[in-house]
Amino acid sequence: MLSVEQATGLVESHVQALAQMDVSLAEAFGRIVAMDLQVPFPSPRFDKSMMDGFGVRCRDFVDHSQRRLPVVRTITAGMTSSKPVSDEAAVRIMTGAVVPPGIDCVVPIEHVAFDESDPGEVTVSSDKVRSEGNILRKGSLAEPGDVLLFSGTEIGPQHIAVLAEFGFDPIPVFRRPAIAVLATGNELVDVGNPLGPGQIYNSNQPTLLAQSRQAGCFATSLGVVADDREQLQAAIRQGLQHDILLLSGGVSAGTLDLVPAELAAAGVECIFHKVAMKPGKPVWFGRWNDGDRTCLVFGLPGNPVSTMVCFEVFVKAAINAMTGRSIAKAVSAKAVLQQELSLKGDRFTYLPARVQWSAGEYVVCSVNWAGSADVRSTANANCLIPLHPEMGPWPAGTKVPVIPW
Ligand code: AMP
Ligand code: MG
Repeated sequence: MLSVEQATGLVESHVQALAQMDVSLAEAFGRIVAMDLQVPFPSPRFDKSMMDGFGVRCRDFVDHSQRRLPVVRTITAGMTSSKPVSDEAAVRIMTGAVVPPGIDCVVPIEHVAFDESDPGEVTVSSDKVRSEGNILRKGSLAEPGDVLLFSGTEIGPQHIAVLAEFGFDPIPVFRRPAIAVLATGNELVDVGNPLGPGQIYNSNQPTLLAQSRQAGCFATSLGVVADDREQLQAAIRQGLQHDILLLSGGVSAGTLDLVPAELAAAGVECIFHKVAMKPGKPVWFGRWNDGDRTCLVFGLPGNPVSTMVCFEVFVKAAINAMTGRSIAKAVSAKAVLQQELSLKGDRFTYLPARVQWSAGEYVVCSVNWAGSADVRSTANANCLIPLHPEMGPWPAGTKVPVIPW
């Protein structure tokens, strides 16, 4: 059976990059940058004062312990200031204002002797004067041609800040993937309807729609179909018109697990079926091509936690690869186990757990998860602990990786 790593690698190798499009700066939050963006102009654009204070020339202070200088003008942010300042003079200058030629130090107002009722003069002691003090020179933060954002960056608030600083609008981003979600099973009833004997609510579909949206995709529900060849075939053909088709249920060894055969009948090439993992072992993955159109198809096992975990592991890998998003594989933190963990069986396991910040470190405890049907306990989980069974058991106090969930 394939390992999770092998299976994830296969998923990534069958992905096609999405086309790019332009969005306005106002709509860019959460989108993925589709090409390397270069710094268009120097930052700062001019020599800039970083303090409210007095601009002076360092050379005027050589061999003096302090100087009383005339204040020849006041420069506020937004003013132009190209006129040089003569020797033995100071300017009053504000944060963000253009530093005039000749000035090579701004002494903060808190560090000088200055009387607002006699604003024509300022006394500055030499120990407060430092070459280039509180001046940010033009281009010292960024030069044209530097890479500002790499393709694959998910645009967060800090990226909005730099895009706006450098005047980017519109912004080239990847098109959002279109995902269709189909639930299969004779026993399923949509929430809002009464449950008959032997029936259960269809929880996987709303879950997968939510996961898809959280991952930045356009998600469409294809409803529920019974375990019936004709109904399945019709719904699969509709689903193949999307970038990704997710089916839940019907991929295991039951007599009504018809999904793999109907996918094959629809022309979907099977890339793998079954992965050595828990939960999620029966997962099915394939690809459908029609000319230059491709649809990636995931048959997700019906048990709710299997469905969720397989989305996190495989579907997200596909979405991330489609947009070059580079953070996919990053396990972002390690946390200290609060109780001993051991695994039954020999499958790689994603254990739902709860991570918290406590007394200066991340600590993690299991949520007493009872297996792939136990969706109830995952409501208390905010991470998955990936565990190789051969490396266990894990005593309390061990540091383990946690995948935010
Ligand atoms: P299957 O993969 O079809 O054999 O289903 C495995 C288990 O998951 C069974 O107990 C199903 O009733 C359950 N199941 C399948 N589909 C869903 C769904 N959409 N929502 C909740 N449970 C489901
Ligand atoms: Mg089923």
